[in-house]
Amino acid sequence: MFYKSTRNSGVSISSAEAIVQGISADGGLFVPSEIPQMSMDEIVKLGDMSYAERAAVVFSKFLTDFTDAELKYCTESAYNDKNFASADIAEISHLFDGTYVLELWHGPTCAFKDMALQILPYLLTTSLKKIKMNKKVVILVATSGDTGKAALEGFADVEGTSIMVFYPQDGVSAMQKRQMATQDGNNVTVCALNGNFDDCQNGVKAIFTNEEIKQKLADGGMMFSSANSINWGRLAPQIIYYISTYAELVKDEQIKAGDKINIVVPTGNFGNILAAYYAKHMGMPVNKLICASNANNVLTDFINTGIYDRNRKFITTVSPSMDILISSNLERLLYILCGENDAQIREWFGKLASEGRYEVTDDVKAKLKADFAAGFCDDAQTKAVIKEIYDKYSYTLDTHTAVAVKVYEDYKKATGDNTKTVIASTASPYKFSTAVLEAIEGKVSDMDEFDKVERLHEVSGYDVPKSLADLKNKPIRFTGAIGRDEMKDFVLKSLSL
Ligand SMILES: *Cc1c(COP(=O)(O)O)cnc(C)c1O
Repeated sequence: MFYKSTRNSGVSISSAEAIVQGISADGGLFVPSEIPQMSMDEIVKLGDMSYAERAAVVFSKFLTDFTDAELKYCTESAYNDKNFASADIAEISHLFDGTYVLELWHGPTCAFKDMALQILPYLLTTSLKKIKMNKKVVILVATSGDTGKAALEGFADVEGTSIMVFYPQDGVSAMQKRQMATQDGNNVTVCALNGNFDDCQNGVKAIFTNEEIKQKLADGGMMFSSANSINWGRLAPQIIYYISTYAELVKDEQIKAGDKINIVVPTGNFGNILAAYYAKHMGMPVNKLICASNANNVLTDFINTGIYDRNRKFITTVSPSMDILISSNLERLLYILCGENDAQIREWFGKLASEGRYEVTDDVKAKLKADFAAGFCDDAQTKAVIKEIYDKYSYTLDTHTAVAVKVYEDYKKATGDNTKTVIASTASPYKFSTAVLEAIEGKVSDMDEFDKVERLHEVSGYDVPKSLADLKNKPIRFTGAIGRDEMKDFVLKSLSL
């Protein structure tokens, strides 16, 4: 197994190189040269293993240049009950008849990003050793909230790395800001930017590609890398929890080995649902992958029409981690669906860059329809479903998972499909307590972030995640905010260059 670029099928590198490079120099994303297979027997056997052991088995199919000892080290260091509040790591909750919620938010930052960002630092530092790259890695992150904190938590005090996170001063929730501003670790820097998320992302990209800065880093024995979901090292860990869930459902006799299931994913950058696609094509029996969007419904339109059109208004919603108009990981799916035709990918993504729009071929449209269904809902529907599920089942959804539940309800009504279904739950409701409380109780009175957490505890009966409760008494370490033009100097100064 080797890794190719979606924009140059001639590229051939190891998984360790793909993880260190993050993105291909031609602008493409790295994809495995084939989708490895797992037999039903192999999948069922996972049921008797710990999550870390299951992870090592699935990783061994993709990271073929890693030794068993290296995979054991990475998976055991990440997936343990010190880092995760649940010994199962990912917990399955039976919501109602034949419908399960896969809770992916029992990690240190209470969002599903932890599933990948707890292990990425180990994969990255192991990869560096394997390719004998003796440099300190500087991770630069632009974040609209969840990724920044999860990356900080993953990389804090990891030897041989340092991490710098930029977030928009007024573009993250109060809880998210608090989470980042109180971050521990001797190798972390957090900085607010007077600008929006696009300014943060553009600033980071400009620094990544600035030759003068790169040279200064190289002279100082350092290099940049990326922790966002274009890195294969973030995608691969997400495949594991789908296969693990299937094994678990068989073990619990909820399904029989070989039964198909549906998977519903609240989607933004298309990383999480693409991982489910890989799981399906590795051999896990899946009927439909259901792609759920909020009012930024560019993916719903794409899956239903084959036309990707980002020329539309960006809408700020109560599910902010899905407020996105360019879903980067779609490029990996289209590369597979068009038969690894790199020229075709260059054409479509060239058009996306220049015109904001492209249309795929009839053949690709048919393949999309075979695997995927899609739907979306707005904020009012999101809140209504939080209330409905709370009233009927005493289960408290966060706003992102609620979008998935609503889209699934609509899908079931429209199709009558009764296949057993797993809904990916991507955040703890405590991370979005304002919107969740508004949904359940109507208006929220004038409370600060921690009063809301207390109130949500009374309403939901769920334990407050320790990491969020502890924030109240943690000293604020990072208070600075800088202008867009100051980012470059800020980075160099922070690295003492
Ligand atoms: C990042 C995120 C998503 C979107 O996941 P993608 O892999 O980008 O599609 C959904 N919900 C939450 C809470 C997230 O943090």
